[in-house]
Amino acid sequence: MKLPVVVVHGGATVFDDKYHEDILTSVKEAAERGMSVLERGGSVLDAVETAIWVLEETNLFTAGLGASKNRDGEVELDAMIMDGNRLQSGAVMAVQDIAHPVSLARYVLERTSNSQIVGSGANKLYEQMLAEGYRKEEEKQRTDVAPIARECDTVGALAVDSKGRIAAGSSTSGWPGKLPGRVGDSPIIGAGVYANDIAGVSCTGKGEQILRITMGRMAVFHVEQGLTVDQAAETVMSELRQKTTGEAGLILADNQGNVAIRFDTPHMPVAVLSSEMKTSYYSMVPEWPRE
Ligand code: ASP
Repeated sequence: MKLPVVVVHGGATVFDDKYHEDILTSVKEAAERGMSVLERGGSVLDAVETAIWVLEETNLFTAGLGASKNRDGEVELDAMIMDGNRLQSGAVMAVQDIAHPVSLARYVLERTSNSQIVGSGANKLYEQMLAEGYRKEEEKQRTDVAPIARECDTVGALAVDSKGRIAAGSSTSGWPGKLPGRVGDSPIIGAGVYANDIAGVSCTGKGEQILRITMGRMAVFHVEQGLTVDQAAETVMSELRQKTTGEAGLILADNQGNVAIRFDTPHMPVAVLSSEMKTSYYSMVPEWPRE
């Protein structure tokens, strides 16, 4: 049995070589923190939120504290988290300049009867979340360093617990210089993120292309139809290449703990931790063992 499993990605993009080590250290730490949450009896949602939180906390990725600005010089963030077992999700879009939009997305899921909250409504909800003590205000401040990825990147995570329950999530500031109000795939159910009782997925890359093929939902659908995660990931990547200009990637896991990783960009940092893999897997490039 491979379960439990935690998989983390730091975006399908291009990173300068000099940052690879720090980036891989970060995704490794995120996966380890997510796994230790599961080992201490936390839920898959706790594990995903924690793993993404770790990546939002660094300024290595264009998410959370490392977010890039839109055309008007403002930070707008998108995040989503989904509980496959309950088939419920929470998402925030174009929320302004908070450190951990993934926690606000979790709040939407757990404490509201809604699934998606945008803009000023999301910022108001953030104040409510803090006032209720659901999560604490971040102490670290944004440092305004230039984004490290040459284009954009998103962080994402999946967790599958020992009972096969799955959660998935993602967090991003989208494309640097994007139109104010622009929302990509990352917080859209079935595009950037999806999870049910069979499989879960977190996508990254050109959001406008990912949206066109509802990449996340399709990847999970293929697993429901009997493909292995590896075949399902290959199928959606090839559809993406055939029907769009591509430039994306995904992490996909099923309820048995099988994991697939695919991307057609130069880099996508990933970390995979499972009880079967005594040595964890960390890579920037597609060396992930395929069937
Ligand atoms: N998919 C994200 C977006 O389009 C960006 C990324 O994954 O790098 O907003």
